[in-house]
Amino acid sequence: MYENSPAMLHAMDPEGRLVKVNRFMLEALGYTAGEVLGRPMTDLFPPGSRQTIWDAIFESLFETGSVHDLPCQWVKKSGEIIDILLCASAEKDAQGKIIGCLAAALDITTRKKTEDHIQTLAYYDPLTGLPNRTLFQDRLHQALAHAHRDGHHVGLLFIDLDRFKTINDTLGHAVGDLMLKSVARQLRNYIREGDTVARLGGDEFVIISSEFTSNQDPIAFSKRLLEMLAEPIQIDGRELFSTASIGIAIYPDDGQDVTTLLGNADIAMYSAKDQGRNTYRFFSAEMNALAIEKLSLETGLRGALQRGELFLAYQPQLDLRSGRLTGLEALVRWAHPEQGLIPPERFIPVAEETGLIIPLGKWVLHTACSQAKAWQDAGLPLQRVAVNVSARQFKQPDFLETVETVLAETGLEPCCLELELTESIVMDNVQEAIMTLTDLKIRNIHLSIDDFGTGYSSLTYLKHFPIDRIKIAQEFVRDIPKDPDDSAIVEAILAMAASLNLEVIAEGVERRDQLRFLHQRQCNHMQGFYFSRPMIAKDLVTLLSRHLGEGPCCLYEG
Ligand code: C2E
Ligand code: MG
Ligand code: MG
Repeated sequence: MYENSPAMLHAMDPEGRLVKVNRFMLEALGYTAGEVLGRPMTDLFPPGSRQTIWDAIFESLFETGSVHDLPCQWVKKSGEIIDILLCASAEKDAQGKIIGCLAAALDITTRKKTEDHIQTLAYYDPLTGLPNRTLFQDRLHQALAHAHRDGHHVGLLFIDLDRFKTINDTLGHAVGDLMLKSVARQLRNYIREGDTVARLGGDEFVIISSEFTSNQDPIAFSKRLLEMLAEPIQIDGRELFSTASIGIAIYPDDGQDVTTLLGNADIAMYSAKDQGRNTYRFFSAEMNALAIEKLSLETGLRGALQRGELFLAYQPQLDLRSGRLTGLEALVRWAHPEQGLIPPERFIPVAEETGLIIPLGKWVLHTACSQAKAWQDAGLPLQRVAVNVSARQFKQPDFLETVETVLAETGLEPCCLELELTESIVMDNVQEAIMTLTDLKIRNIHLSIDDFGTGYSSLTYLKHFPIDRIKIAQEFVRDIPKDPDDSAIVEAILAMAASLNLEVIAEGVERRDQLRFLHQRQCNHMQGFYFSRPMIAKDLVTLLSRHLGEGPCCLYEG
């Protein structure tokens, strides 16, 4: 019975060496009796797991005298690994000392494979390999529980392909399947680690994104997703185009549980379809309004330059000691045909995001330089014009070339141009920034740091940047001298600038008490409504001509 049992029976001495092995076990593992007898039974385990298993077995034998159904693995002589369940029982002498051990192992490799397969069938979609509806619900449930605990938002994106039925009907199911697989691959690559993409069935996919809104801007996320899905897919040597409609619901605002959230994402998806497909809609009205406004700004902005809706305003900057104008800051304006004047704070971020800032920035630079040159040619005393530069512009590999071209085309002297950069622009990639700034500086272009104090600046780096001056951010100037914190910050900036030999200009000076505070601390360069609001070129001519000659100052006296 021992030899013919369909279980792998064996016996060990107190040191764990094999002393008896049944025929079935030898046949199953491919060894002869001579090859295994006398060897430690741990040799049968895969090398990496030997110590752990040994410890587990002996702990159990000592404590309870037996081992029950311990799942582990053995390596056959051929190298093949099998899954087993191990049972063992200690043999003890009259004093209770272990004198040996009898064990039986069952090969459960096939059973385990079947179980894994059943698991896969139950939780994964066989076509795409993505989690199916069951696993999706499970994951969403977990994500909501976590979010509830940590106070996060969870985004649920319901994605439905726009023309899938047509593709399936005209090109056949085989092509349709390939298309679904390809979309699944794209989605899987798109999401972040820890997020889930699942296929609910047909051409319906869902994405669960944890930390939505905090680490992931839902609008930008959906937009990029649409762009990616709209790219042509190569199937059987043929290019297929398909777009998608996306509905978005956000926990906890749009639903507190799996069913409500999924239902609301579905409703939002249908509203995206109604809007003409290839778009996304939020379930919540506020999010939709925000997304729609952004979209309409973006479309409007695309044509604004061609339609001549953009223009520049110029704000004087002056030196208090002479009371004279030292320069003008060019500030872009958008006269929207329906919405009226749109402030740059609303459209510059959109221009940055879409890349429209590149042509827009070039236009601003060109217009400001050519206007400054025209004033100088007309004999008006203008030393310098300042132009704001955005991050994306500055990072353009041909930024320097663009500036040079504009200067050459307009004929403005490089020393008459000042570029205003923000702290984040120069601190983002310090080494590269230093190179670009140096390139600009050796061409004699004036450089300043705008909104100083609002970003993150390393003072060590500041020392190495070839900067001419810093502009104290309006937010610190606003409440001086009343606010002691802001006053202290302004004083600190002034002291630091003095020791680094940087010129300082204060922005947003609106009142006499601010002026006095700054003036007393040797900050003599200022810009603000107290002296002048930004003005269009035509209106500035009068002001500029009043600066001709040595007459009294018109912006500030005494
Ligand atoms: P900024 O460069 O710091 O410009 C100063 C802003 O403060 C201007 O607002 C100006 O009108 C305003 N300002 C000046 N003096 C006072 C004052 O005494 N009180 C108050 N309350 N405000 C004052 P604006 O024109 O709305 O520009 C806002 C921001 O938009 C600018 O901040 C700049 O970052 C950006 N921007 C404007 N034009 C351009 C441009 O051509 N290109 C780029 N990239 N950004 C621009
Ligand atoms: Mg500025
Ligand atoms: Mg500023």
